[in-house]
Amino acid sequence: MPAAQPKPKVIIRHCDEYDPQRIETIVREAMEELGLRPHGRTLVKPNVVCAGEGFDHAFTRPEFVDGVLRALQGRDDGQMTELAVGERCGITIPTRYAFDQSGMNAMLKKHRKVKTYYFEEEVQVEIPYTHPSRLRDYVFTPEPVAKADFFVNCPKFKAHPWTTVTFGNKQYIGIQDDRHRLIDHDTKLEEKIADLQYIIQPQLLAIDAIIAGEGRMLTPIPKRLNLIILGNNQCAFDSVCCRIIGVNPFDVPHIRLAHERGFGPLALADIELSGDVTLDEAKERAKGFKVGLIRVEKYFEGTSITAYAGPPPKSEQTEYCWGGCPGAIEEAIEMLRVFDAETDKKLPRMHVVFGNYQGELDWHPGERVVFIGDCAEFKGKLGEELIEVDNLYRPRNTLDPHTVQGEDILDKVRKTRKLLKAAKGKPYLRLTGCPVSVAEQLMVLVAIGGLNDPMIDAAGVKNFLAWKSRMLLKRMTGQKYQQPGPTQRGAAAPVQSVGVTPAQ
Ligand code: SF4
Repeated sequence: MPAAQPKPKVIIRHCDEYDPQRIETIVREAMEELGLRPHGRTLVKPNVVCAGEGFDHAFTRPEFVDGVLRALQGRDDGQMTELAVGERCGITIPTRYAFDQSGMNAMLKKHRKVKTYYFEEEVQVEIPYTHPSRLRDYVFTPEPVAKADFFVNCPKFKAHPWTTVTFGNKQYIGIQDDRHRLIDHDTKLEEKIADLQYIIQPQLLAIDAIIAGEGRMLTPIPKRLNLIILGNNQCAFDSVCCRIIGVNPFDVPHIRLAHERGFGPLALADIELSGDVTLDEAKERAKGFKVGLIRVEKYFEGTSITAYAGPPPKSEQTEYCWGGCPGAIEEAIEMLRVFDAETDKKLPRMHVVFGNYQGELDWHPGERVVFIGDCAEFKGKLGEELIEVDNLYRPRNTLDPHTVQGEDILDKVRKTRKLLKAAKGKPYLRLTGCPVSVAEQLMVLVAIGGLNDPMIDAAGVKNFLAWKSRMLLKRMTGQKYQQPGPTQRGAAAPVQSVGVTPAQ
């Protein structure tokens, strides 16, 4: 009889300061306990979705990554050929800017031998999917991810408005550049995240839960948990993180799907727990932790915005789009509130409409209506004017990851300005896209309310130009994509580590 596989392990450790030495010790001890040593191309993936003033608790802190890098170097017995940190941040801003703002680049300067990968500036490698329930046959990921031999996933412990939480599985959204990450970032977001698990699985996970983030993901409310949680299996790890905040991991679709596809256990009986903090003690510290899953109509109750959410197209087989436009406006308004304390006062009474909404709009002359998303559909009167908003939704099988076009922050500024200009004097405007990103929705709200614009600084001219010129160079040298072989779909990938087959 084959020997029974050891249970995946999750280690819960106390840590009450961002002291790289202390963090190094905790991570090194965990690696010893898990019997792990880095080897080959070793890649650390933090969560740096956004950073800088106002985003203080959105990202894995550089001191944390510093500690992880030291521990990896300390455990290297000569098998590690490269040590790197890589990420694609969010809301269209260049990752090099987020790394500057978070202090990650300053920290990395001390680690002269550690490479930095801004994923959107790297060659994108095609990964074929062959599992039965896949959303599509192939996706793209940056080459450093595809080639990593030892992958260290270092999320930030946070709530999330689209997916309840963002722990190990969810932070894989950052292993795609913008144009690929926004594909299926809609009603199918949870399935997309579960699909991304086939690209790579981490050998080691270490989450920054020293100061966790409640309620939302870009501007979360800080909550001190004084914890570092570590593990060697993404599902087991996410399961324990969920349980710490009182969430049933089976109720979080992307975690449940990853489990059902064989990526790891969720039941506590199948997970070995250790560390100097018990699960009950950790739960006590997290008591009252707020997750961010709230429907948009409810979210805006009591504000000057009234939201209406009709169902997405029938093909999506759902009543509400949790992974797209409605969640994006919630993140946008939270960002605006951080950057302009008068946001709610300044925004005029207005209406935002998602999906196929055919009910009444509680509209009065002088108020603005914003139809958001390709699937917005409406026929009705605003005063005397008959309004017809057509459904522009394109089925997902018409989107090809090979040809999808990305939009940088300047493209989005231009697009939004043009749109606002065209809608001048009209009672309504329509934002197209599937999804309409946080950045675009934010720009429109800034214009309508005359609000302070957080994107002005966030664009970081220096970093934007550096990113632009690097991308231009890559395009000129033909480094945009790398495909897995002469035949694309279903072909064997040339890069050894590409693709994961979970144990069933
Ligand atoms: S247009 Fe927006 S709301 Fe509609 S399906 Fe796409 S992401 Fe969801």
